[in-house]
Amino acid sequence: KLANPSAPPAVTHGLSENVILTTVDDLYNWCRLSSLFPLLYGTACCFIEFAALIGSRFDFDRFGLLPRASPRQADLIITAGTINMKMAPALVRLYEQMPDPKYVIAMGACTITGGMFSSDSTSAVRGVDKLIPVDVYIPGCPPRPEAIIDAIIKLRKKVATESMQDRAYTLQTHRFYERSHQ
Ligand code: SF4
Repeated sequence: KLANPSAPPAVTHGLSENVILTTVDDLYNWCRLSSLFPLLYGTACCFIEFAALIGSRFDFDRFGLLPRASPRQADLIITAGTINMKMAPALVRLYEQMPDPKYVIAMGACTITGGMFSSDSTSAVRGVDKLIPVDVYIPGCPPRPEAIIDAIIKLRKKVATESMQDRAYTLQTHRFYERSHQ
């Protein structure tokens, strides 16, 4: 039987045992998903649950998450608590100060929809996704720390499968949307 000249060269047995084939995207994502650094950010009672997660009982660090006090060192923000109109510009500014690629988890009814303030309050933002793009939502009032862990696992799955090109496009689209609605 004649060999196909366009077929890739066969990998020898010894070589296939010692070489890991991957893509730049996979390698980059693998590094990022194990070292997400969340910004220490909370505005109301939901933050108490987030703070509990940082303690030893739930062992938050096992996912490689190290809370940071500066947005310039963080690539994840968990919006824990009510976002009010006065706070909104500061939140957007914090988000913009975080380096790309960056992620947002919206935690709790207040941050997702305005919660109990959604019907008659004029000061609550009715959905943090009107300000910044949200990757994972955690419903509840308040969500328990286990629900935050579940959201982190979902975010890690998202990070593991995304391509750098798609992520850059999503962020560019969001910025264009922001500029066109100012
Ligand atoms: Fe507080 Fe519930 Fe609102 Fe969370 S969702 S900030 S627990 S009122």
